[in-house]
Amino acid sequence: EPIILSEKCIGCLKCVKVCPADALEMFFTPEELKILEELARQQAAGAAPAVEEEDAEEAALAQMLAAYRGVWVFVEQTEGEPAKVSWELMGVGAQLARDIGTELCAIVIGHGVEHLCREAFSYGATKAYLMDQDVFRFYRTEPYLDACCHLIDKYKPEIILMGATGMGRDLAGAVATRVKTGLTADCTGLDVDDKRNLRQTRPAFGGNIMATIMCDKFRPQMATVRPHVMPMPERMEGATGAIVREQITLNEADILTKVIEIIRDTKVGVDIAGAEFIVSGGRGLMGPENFAMLQELADELGGVVGASRSAVDAGWMPHDRQVGQTGKTVRPKIYIACGISGAIQHLVGMQDSDVVIAINRDKEAPIFQVATYGIVGDLFKIVPAITSQLRELKA
Ligand code: FAD
Repeated sequence: EPIILSEKCIGCLKCVKVCPADALEMFFTPEELKILEELARQQAAGAAPAVEEEDAEEAALAQMLAAYRGVWVFVEQTEGEPAKVSWELMGVGAQLARDIGTELCAIVIGHGVEHLCREAFSYGATKAYLMDQDVFRFYRTEPYLDACCHLIDKYKPEIILMGATGMGRDLAGAVATRVKTGLTADCTGLDVDDKRNLRQTRPAFGGNIMATIMCDKFRPQMATVRPHVMPMPERMEGATGAIVREQITLNEADILTKVIEIIRDTKVGVDIAGAEFIVSGGRGLMGPENFAMLQELADELGGVVGASRSAVDAGWMPHDRQVGQTGKTVRPKIYIACGISGAIQHLVGMQDSDVVIAINRDKEAPIFQVATYGIVGDLFKIVPAITSQLRELKA
């Protein structure tokens, strides 16, 4: 028998609606019913202004959103040398700009970097916002943040894209926080809906689902994308655009970060992210010594050796060779996966390769779902066979 606290119960029926077992019913005397009807009538009369308020809020939101126009790409540079990811973003940025009928602009911040505006035009931008001052010579969060926010306040872009690099991740987070908007990191897909909202797709829950994230109540909409995720657009030699020069007053003494010395990393690493041919090995390789076999095949192709996380975690290959969600995203002409099962976290890092060749003795292995060519069998026989076939062809 339920206990009703008569001093608290107002007969709103909420408990009846939320009871998961439909176990509650409520009865009223005719007198109580009359009181409830009167209450409902009063509430309906009072609700009218609330609807108007909602309309007004919606109109204000629509007006705010409409004030923001244009797709911007941050052109990342180090001592005047652009990061390739910026041009990759120009490609997807141009598509977004076309879809919503707006302009594609570049943000160029640095010292002696005007040439990057012209470079941005050749990759599809029609306008470049240039902030060229000595204080921007080296990347530091505070001045770059001030520069970006100055441009955003003044020119109000609706979308800003940055590379998910050390610099881009740092700057995008700082900018989104200061301008109080949303940021989606490491997007793997970008498009727009019919209300000009950016649909930002990225792996979520450890790569087990793809989530599409929107930022429909704030502007600008900000996203970062890792290098090699988007295809490189074609370069249009001689394309021109407008350069908008901006300056801000920044006192070097007020900037807390100082660049004292630049120490170059002299370690010659292997750039798997930029390689055209990758031969990757997984747990199926059984041990570090067997990666020499993959290296031989990679050498024949003029490529490099990559690895799954299992192979890296086992200490068989260094971390900079790892392909996948917590490793590198690669987009080679040919990706050969040897003894790799094809977990989603691996697939997100390589599935956009032009051609995927999978070698696995388990015909049910998920890697075959993304493979252009699948070879079911023992990699210890197949890999040397391919290598010797290539050698014969070359001879
Ligand atoms: P296994 O899954 O063990 O597959 C080994 C395969 O080798 C099997 O399919 C087997 O049939 C085959 N095989 C064995 N012997 C032979 C033989 N002689 N000939 C042919 N085939 C053979 N993984 C990544 O790779 N990159 C990442 O960046 C990454 N990030 C992750 C992030 C998170 C948050 C999580 C949770 C996981 C991540 N993983 C990542 C791990 C991922 O889930 C898998 O565990 C991993 O990719 C499996 O590696 P594997 O395919 O080498 O090993």
